Amino acid sequence: MRLIATLALLVTISGPPPARAADFERHFTPEALRIDLHHGGDATHETYSLDELRAEPFYAGSRTNLVDTLNLGEYLVRVFDRRTNAMIYSRGFSTVFAEWSTTDEALAGFTRVFHESIVVPFPKAPVYLRIERRTRGGALRTVFDLAVDPADWHINRERRFREFRVVELMNNAPIERAVDLVILGDGYRRDEMHKLRKDADRLLGALFDMEPFKSRKRDFNVRLVETVSAESDIDEPREGRWRANLLGCSFEAFDIPRYVLTHANKTVRDAAGNVPYDAVLILANAKRYGGGGIYGLYAISTVDNEHSAFVFTHEFGHSFAGLGDEYYTSEVAYNDMYPRGVEPWEPNITAMLDSTAVKWGDLIAAGTPVPTPDDSLYADVVGCFEGAGYSAKGLYRPTRDCRMFSKKADAFCPVCRRAIERAIDFHAR
Ligand SMILES: [Zn+2]
Repeated sequence: MRLIATLALLVTISGPPPARAADFERHFTPEALRIDLHHGGDATHETYSLDELRAEPFYAGSRTNLVDTLNLGEYLVRVFDRRTNAMIYSRGFSTVFAEWSTTDEALAGFTRVFHESIVVPFPKAPVYLRIERRTRGGALRTVFDLAVDPADWHINRERRFREFRVVELMNNAPIERAVDLVILGDGYRRDEMHKLRKDADRLLGALFDMEPFKSRKRDFNVRLVETVSAESDIDEPREGRWRANLLGCSFEAFDIPRYVLTHANKTVRDAAGNVPYDAVLILANAKRYGGGGIYGLYAISTVDNEHSAFVFTHEFGHSFAGLGDEYYTSEVAYNDMYPRGVEPWEPNITAMLDSTAVKWGDLIAAGTPVPTPDDSLYADVVGCFEGAGYSAKGLYRPTRDCRMFSKKADAFCPVCRRAIERAIDFHAR
């Protein structure tokens, strides 16, 4: 039934104008619909397959910003009312698959599959859902179509992990007018919950000590889910160390020692779904330097390293505001992540294909040379500094140093700060 129903959408992509603020209550209930998917392929092919549909108790997003205006992420999901074909919701996001698809393994034609979830407000009437991917030319290509009938009795309403205690760390605003953060711990035993709470307090303290989070603290709610692992610490494959950590966080993602990801998406989502959330932060109970962050997915940071506060805030920059890595000297696993001649979607990296129309041009003071020389004369100036996005040539960053560039930076640059503010506004207004 689903497959037949999706065909109708193929010819009617442009319908009536997108949904407006007043439309939330007409189209959606306060619950969330979680679409669990398997996303697989190699460097040149990808497919989505439905795993299951789930109903979750809270949709924490804005009720006025239903349609995405941030234009970030490798992918875009759009929801259409099946009766009128009007687009009633959209969101950009990125995936582990998209990163993995640029690795040597994927380029060699080896295939892998990753688990993903898309969370949207729960529709009142039948909808179509379409996932599109950015092509290198900038256009969107359809990867997946799905028809969902909210009356479908297969939508799973089982609540998992309700036994985990929830601690409210910050409560400033109603969920639809706040950025709702959920913090999960990985590799904390039952007798380490006091440590999880202390680690969360310390790292949140570092985040809200930095602009623009400092000035915008009242737009955030934070809830900690006391996720319990059977064993302490996280997996470290190159040391042959495998822990029974609930959320599956592991060093050496894509063979990069410091890169920490988890592929246990279903477990992460089941643990997070007990509270309202817009963004997931995972604290990995480990000492070694490491972390990872993917736009719209999660930010992970180890907690006991001297640089943990840096990693925590840097990775949240990726996952919350879609910021790109401004550095270009560290080892990564990606090939051609930013192909030549294509402007990256990340707000803080530019290929400067047109030097008269740089996306942060309004923040560059008159008289600043563009490209900007890497000279102490321009230490605190917004310009276009060559070297960004894992490439010493052809990609440019906004300032000489930034929290997205190096551990030495104690602040986000003005371009990153503005991108974060825009993300806060989008969620909280
Ligand atoms: Zn920056």
